Amino acid sequence: MSRTCCGALVLGLIAMACSTPEPSPSASAMSQQPRWGLIIHTGAGAFTLAGLGERREPMRAAMTEALSAGHRILAEGGSSLDAVQATIVVLEDSPLFNAGKGAVFTHEGSNELDASIMDGASQRAGAVAGVKRIKNPILLARLVMEKSPHVMLTGDGAETFAAEQGGIEFVDPKYFHTDRAWDALQRALEEERQKTKTGASARPAMERDAPGSYFGTVGAVALDRRGNLAAGTSTGGMTNKRFGRVGDSPIVGAGTYASNESCGISSTGHGEFFIRYTVAHDICARVAYKGMSVQAAADEVVQQVLKKAGGEGGVVGLDRAGNIAMSFNSTGMGRGYMGADGAPVIMFTKEDAVLLSSPPQRIQASASSGPSGTRSGRP
Ligand code: ASP
Repeated sequence: MSRTCCGALVLGLIAMACSTPEPSPSASAMSQQPRWGLIIHTGAGAFTLAGLGERREPMRAAMTEALSAGHRILAEGGSSLDAVQATIVVLEDSPLFNAGKGAVFTHEGSNELDASIMDGASQRAGAVAGVKRIKNPILLARLVMEKSPHVMLTGDGAETFAAEQGGIEFVDPKYFHTDRAWDALQRALEEERQKTKTGASARPAMERDAPGSYFGTVGAVALDRRGNLAAGTSTGGMTNKRFGRVGDSPIVGAGTYASNESCGISSTGHGEFFIRYTVAHDICARVAYKGMSVQAAADEVVQQVLKKAGGEGGVVGLDRAGNIAMSFNSTGMGRGYMGADGAPVIMFTKEDAVLLSSPPQRIQASASSGPSGTRSGRP
């Protein structure tokens, strides 16, 4: 048996390349069952497993907790929108990721947060950009979608809307301080000072070019028992951003997209490229118009279109049949998924992807619910 197939068995997935020509009765019975589950990312960048160091295990634990929060909702028959929201709230509350609590700093030393959410059944969407006092921007994005006639609200206006609607937690901006994000800003400012001194470049150093950088935007895509897709993304943006810069994460069609007609996608990476190439929508358009699998469509956009343009980053996605997609052109992308069996799969770098080099996979179909151990994607 090839290494790939061994890996596939380790992950416990079905519909793999190494499946037997005539599936056993139990395997075909499983494939009749509705598929549901969710997939997440926690940012892409030029990092290695060694570079993540001691952060890796706490990150793995937080990602498992986030997947479990979404899984609980789906297991009880809840909606994919609720699952995406609950999953992202867990990641926003963790100091480990560049979203909510762990958001990176702007040039001026403040935190400006962006988020978006989209419902694949109705194609309604909500987004916020540049909010400074909202503990969980994904909750405000959902509120914009449900309680306003708009899709995106920004800055003070978004916060006024939140205050008027109620039910959204405000925090002192100091809440967002983490030493990790602060130190990253100091490094970027120092790099900028050096560049100015040598006249190397007028471009602000936004840390994306630094070797070993880990970015930590978070995103989730879920498929519920009714077959509805939803996607969401949340971020602090890029370290040392200025002038009210907004990236792709709150932009529907770039950072987030979901349609029951095609797929759900959440992006992470150098936002300017993801906006210009409308990455999330482009992937779903290839699924809808070209009949491509979600993985093939994601690869075409991330590995060819984006890479050629110099846009670093990646995506995770799902279609209505439960096929998953994970594609990134950086050395690493935190990512994981959980199917109906409740077993988390968590990965960080390309070494992990060796286990996943088979044709498109599906989230596990299983009648059981509740966490049942870890299917490890560890190298
Ligand atoms: N896409 C985010 C932005 O450009 C950053 C990231 O995903 O790392 O704001």
